[in-house]
Amino acid sequence: MKIGFIGLGNMGGPMAHNLAKEGHEVLGFDLAAPMPEGVHKAATAGDAARGADVVITMLPNGAILRAVAGEIIPVMRKGAVFLDCSTVDVASARAVAADAEAAGMMAIDAPVSGGITGAAAGTLTFMAGGSDAAFAVVKPLLDIMGQKAVHCGGAGAGQAAKICNNMILGATMIATCEAFALADKLGLDRAKMFDVVSTSSGYSWSMNAYCPAPGVGPKSPADNGYKPGFAAELMLKDLRLSQEAARSVDADTPMGARATELYASFVEEEGGRSQDFSAMLPRFERRGRS
Ligand code: NAD
Repeated sequence: MKIGFIGLGNMGGPMAHNLAKEGHEVLGFDLAAPMPEGVHKAATAGDAARGADVVITMLPNGAILRAVAGEIIPVMRKGAVFLDCSTVDVASARAVAADAEAAGMMAIDAPVSGGITGAAAGTLTFMAGGSDAAFAVVKPLLDIMGQKAVHCGGAGAGQAAKICNNMILGATMIATCEAFALADKLGLDRAKMFDVVSTSSGYSWSMNAYCPAPGVGPKSPADNGYKPGFAAELMLKDLRLSQEAARSVDADTPMGARATELYASFVEEEGGRSQDFSAMLPRFERRGRS
């Protein structure tokens, strides 16, 4: 396929590279990032999109996505698919899909889980929203970039699934970290704490696969000085998206709201910006000592 790829940062770069490696013709555009191996450079976003069968975007947020969409939809080929893999607000995803469809294209929102290691290894999970016809066109590409793609429903359904998943992730990571900090104060050995909880009803991905306590459980960013991994500021971005979505449909999400507050103060006031989101554990320990 002929693919336009816009946004070649930490995630988009390796994703575009994997598509090129499988023999697709990939024309890339980014304001700053270098072209990955096998990807040809376009001078503008419009040049990358013109004539492509599928245009993929992997951008920082909804405002940038809307701006790029405004630039590329007018030059995209009728019948082509606009595949946005960024994590953005549901309203932006739906607005971009509506604009693309009004101009004669198809659209899919397909945010990802799996981080930069998943992007490099081609093992991402995609959660997709859009029509069956559009999903069928992009499915072979999702299968190259990832190990699983779930078609969640119509436009915006992929973003809704991503936001709900990450709201659970933020809350369980905080619960796991505060429990470790409490266990420390109660004199419980961390390895014993992990052994019990990881096989009891308190288990979760945060505890079992991404344990925030160094030296305990499988290797995780905690074993690497809390270098991300998944940065606390990205967790905060996703939690804020969950709260924006909750407000827009009048959903009651008190745990999500509290997780958002805690990550906001961690990132904006407590030095957590460039740390992994599991560095909530040392944050609870510091507070415990003061
Ligand atoms: P990044 O900042 O590394 O990459 C974004 C790229 O977009 C940058 O290279 C930037 O130059 C480019 N860009 C910005 N504005 C542009 C424009 N107008 N035209 C062309 N290029 C433009 O971010 P990332 O980590 O690759 O994340 C991309 C998206 O994936 C985000 O929405 C993020 O929330 C989501 N995501 C990230 C991770 C992760 O672990 N990094 C995991 C899941 C989802």
